[in-house]
Amino acid sequence: MTTGPTASGTNGYVLAPPEQATLSVAGSTDRFPVHRVYCVGRNYAAHAVEMGHDPDKEPPFFFQKNPDNLIADATEFPYPRASQDVHHEIELLVALQSGGEDIAVENALDCVFGYGVSLDMTRRDLQGEMKKLGRPWEIGKAFEMSAPAGPIRTVADVGHPDAGDIWLRVNEEVRQSGDLNQMIWKTAEMISILSMLFTLRPGDVILTGTPSGVGPVQRGDAMHGHVAGVGDLRLTVT
Ligand code: MN
Repeated sequence: MTTGPTASGTNGYVLAPPEQATLSVAGSTDRFPVHRVYCVGRNYAAHAVEMGHDPDKEPPFFFQKNPDNLIADATEFPYPRASQDVHHEIELLVALQSGGEDIAVENALDCVFGYGVSLDMTRRDLQGEMKKLGRPWEIGKAFEMSAPAGPIRTVADVGHPDAGDIWLRVNEEVRQSGDLNQMIWKTAEMISILSMLFTLRPGDVILTGTPSGVGPVQRGDAMHGHVAGVGDLRLTVT
């Protein structure tokens, strides 16, 4: 007997549609549906310097992860395949409730639903090879479970954090330490610039860059990230 797509009962789809990627929201049982994941590169001067760049000379640049690379409220980060040098990058996550194009800086924060603590986990060896060859970064950045994220705290709850500690400890030893006020491009500026390049949508999230001190993790390591006023994120590398 022939079983075709129409026999599978997928309500008008030829395949079962993929699950909607979501993040949790602190104090709510409703979830935040994710549309796109934008990431900002080298947004803290000291980190740009440690990666071999002059932070004063470079405009912001962006790359993307896939929505389903976000892992909400995970307690474990599985060491990814195909890499021997996986780095932590602690980042403030911005979650948008509205979007548009050509958003003025002074209106940009109206787009924000809330903020979270996230990790831009990076296969640094693969990213480095791609950089050297002038190729895209996807294989270094957009892999499975590469963006663990804690619950979103709403603007009503935490305001718009623009100063305060952001750090990451591994086995409770400080590896990364910075202050949100060291971000070269502020949240409103990032939203505005992104909106000149893309049509921003409700459900978009932005990972806003990492302070200096990025480095490798090993299986068994306990990562503990913190963003002042937003929260903590704890994961074991498995
Ligand atoms: Mn990053």
